[in-house]
Amino acid sequence: MRHRPRHLINSADAELWPAWLLRARRNADARALATADWVVRDRDGAYLATVDARRNLHTLPPIHSSRNSETWRSLVRAADIQTPVHVLPMHGLERRLHQLGLDADDYARRTGLMPVAEPSRLTLAGFDRYRRPLWLSDGAARAWNQLQAAAAVDGVALDAISGYRSHAYQMGIFARKRARDLSVDEILAVNAAPGFSEHHCGDALDIGTEGEPPAEESFEHTKAFHWLSGHAGDFGFRLSYPRDNPHGIVYEPWHWRWHAA
Ligand SMILES: [Zn+2]
Repeated sequence: MRHRPRHLINSADAELWPAWLLRARRNADARALATADWVVRDRDGAYLATVDARRNLHTLPPIHSSRNSETWRSLVRAADIQTPVHVLPMHGLERRLHQLGLDADDYARRTGLMPVAEPSRLTLAGFDRYRRPLWLSDGAARAWNQLQAAAAVDGVALDAISGYRSHAYQMGIFARKRARDLSVDEILAVNAAPGFSEHHCGDALDIGTEGEPPAEESFEHTKAFHWLSGHAGDFGFRLSYPRDNPHGIVYEPWHWRWHAA
């Protein structure tokens, strides 16, 4: 069986995805994806190039500017598991927030939240409830897999609702809601400002259980939540937003963050 990469490699401009996790969107991409190890995507999800087993880059039509190819090559180098993980620079975030009508400093002051950088590499921690790849930091992925297995032994079925989310993803949610004429305050009541979500760092995930809707306070009354309250700490996970937390964020019994020992 061919080697199947299990990491997502991030940069400010583009991402490297394992090809086996992606579906071709056009016939022209299908053959290229079938023979590729990796796919270079831009931050909006468009496929730019493929990388074969010998680490050669193949640009996908339409031909994208070749000045990107040095970025792409550095992504391929970062796919080497020996390369240390670093955090991506956050310049540009403040400007993009401003374009959405949000003052980053003011938001930070009001909530006590800090901007959260994205890591350069994430690990596949399995799949979430919706069969999407679940990306977490290496440590959080290992801890989540152990936590989920230990819960199963005790007869508790835990699933993941959502793990790592990029700044761009959160920005997209925000922009779509703004386009539907929702005010900034209305959006902030339910979504963290882009760049300020714990999900950006890859250490946080939303946990659910069978038969329970995602991200509802009712999760607090499940067997799963009671199990987590007693055991999650043994695996390094803590509830980020308990009742009456100082950030003014609603109580989120489903949102847990892994803290390295
Ligand atoms: Zn969450």
